[in-house]
Amino acid sequence: MRSQWRDWFSHVWRATSHVGRSLLFPPRCVSCERSTGWALCPPCIEQSAAFPLPRCSRCDLPLEAEHVCTLPPVLRAARVVAPHAGPLRRAIHALKYEGRTDVARPLGIMLAARWRHTGVPVDGLLPVPLGAARHTQRGYNQAALLAEEMAHVLELPVLCDALRRVRETRPQVGLSRKERLENVRGAFRASSALAGRSWLLVDDVCTTGATLSACAQALLAAGATRVYAITLTRSAEETLHASLAHELRACHVYSRART
Ligand SMILES: [Zn+2]
Ligand SMILES: [Zn+2]
Repeated sequence: MRSQWRDWFSHVWRATSHVGRSLLFPPRCVSCERSTGWALCPPCIEQSAAFPLPRCSRCDLPLEAEHVCTLPPVLRAARVVAPHAGPLRRAIHALKYEGRTDVARPLGIMLAARWRHTGVPVDGLLPVPLGAARHTQRGYNQAALLAEEMAHVLELPVLCDALRRVRETRPQVGLSRKERLENVRGAFRASSALAGRSWLLVDDVCTTGATLSACAQALLAAGATRVYAITLTRSAEETLHASLAHELRACHVYSRART
């Protein structure tokens, strides 16, 4: 009798513990740290204002007088949610370096809203693949989490294995534009199953576009018709320096684990 009671209790506990936990300990917003029940709360999302209008129709950056579009020609167009600042910057950091995978949902919804606004039809979403070293260290690919959340909203398929990294690359942080292009050239391969259709590459941050460009080249080589890209933010090289320590630590941990 006692063991029946114990079984029943453990069954009820397992069934309700997830709901119970979130009721007792609602998620904290990664930016304002209030227990709002949101991984990134609506007031913090509203602070992530888009780049000012007018914007370049190709790269989505503000059309200032000196704007020279540097978007690689293999990409039809790229879209970006907001500048690398404030709550969005904090949320990306939490997603990549603090294991806050729950923040992928609000960020994915922001990406979906931005893409829907373009009205451009695509056949599916492709997350930018993470290097094996960083995947092992992090345990997940943040771009895949973002693409999956985005796909729910847009009701599009997300193909996580159709675009693969075929060789390891050095972290892009600290490299010049030319070095970045060289570092990722030929690093990706796409499945021929992607031929004849349009695809949207998804990533968290774009700096020079070298990685997106290498992915797009692999897709076009596999027969894709059009390749677009969307990222949460664009980042100038200097704003990425805060991430450098994490990248180096990740590599260090990985190299130690291998020896
Ligand atoms: Zn907040
Ligand atoms: Zn441009």
